[in-house]
Amino acid sequence: MAAPRPYLMDEMTWEEVRDAAAAGLPAVLGIGSTEQHGPHLPLNTDAVIPMEIALAAAQITPLVVAPPIHYGAMSRPLIGGGERFPGTVSLRAATLIATIREVLLGLAKSGFRKLCLFNWHYENSAYLWEAADLAVATRSDIRVLVIEHPMPEFSPAELSELFPNGFTGWNFEHASHLETSIMYVLRPDLVRRDRIADDRAARAPDWDMVPPPDDYIPRSGVLMKPTDASEEAGQRFFEASVNRLVTAIRTEFGEP
Ligand SMILES: [Zn+2]
Repeated sequence: MAAPRPYLMDEMTWEEVRDAAAAGLPAVLGIGSTEQHGPHLPLNTDAVIPMEIALAAAQITPLVVAPPIHYGAMSRPLIGGGERFPGTVSLRAATLIATIREVLLGLAKSGFRKLCLFNWHYENSAYLWEAADLAVATRSDIRVLVIEHPMPEFSPAELSELFPNGFTGWNFEHASHLETSIMYVLRPDLVRRDRIADDRAARAPDWDMVPPPDDYIPRSGVLMKPTDASEEAGQRFFEASVNRLVTAIRTEFGEP
């Protein structure tokens, strides 16, 4: 039987949390979604990935991984497929901001002073800063590191290696090459390999329309090219993201 992991808050006792907070460890809160990821990836893709990245970071620098926020901001058709797919369950921005703020304050009450919001679901990004700012307005003794985008800047050479068939932008990477590759590495048991197929919206302009026109929404929920996915790319994406999280934490909070 596996032992409880001393850095995973879900598996810790209150005394262990008290001691970790007193030792000055940062707490990392993953922010994900419950959202369709095409016919081949599970609904928990955006929650599994940041959790696993945070758990890997905990092997490199001391930190506590808090239970993640498993519901995210409304899925937008051009970057997430939209709200019409069964299984996509989202929160309104005001609810999400209030939820993140209250979890931050709960972590602060538990003794943590160094807090990190680590986002995976694109639509959440703008709301993290707002929630952090509200939490800090209530508790001036905390500092919050806000990571809206989990990938580092890649050089053009790295991008063409990682995306041999062309990089069209991170906002098209929903249920596509990036996420499928990482899930190959983290949870291959959840990837329906026989269901992987490329798709895209008939029209994806760089503006938006509410309500979304039907041709903004790809039939399968896939925005680009999951058939490009590979374990090798997944490993590189994963390591790059772990390193980025570790670097940001060490830069802003130092070693405890
Ligand atoms: Zn996703």
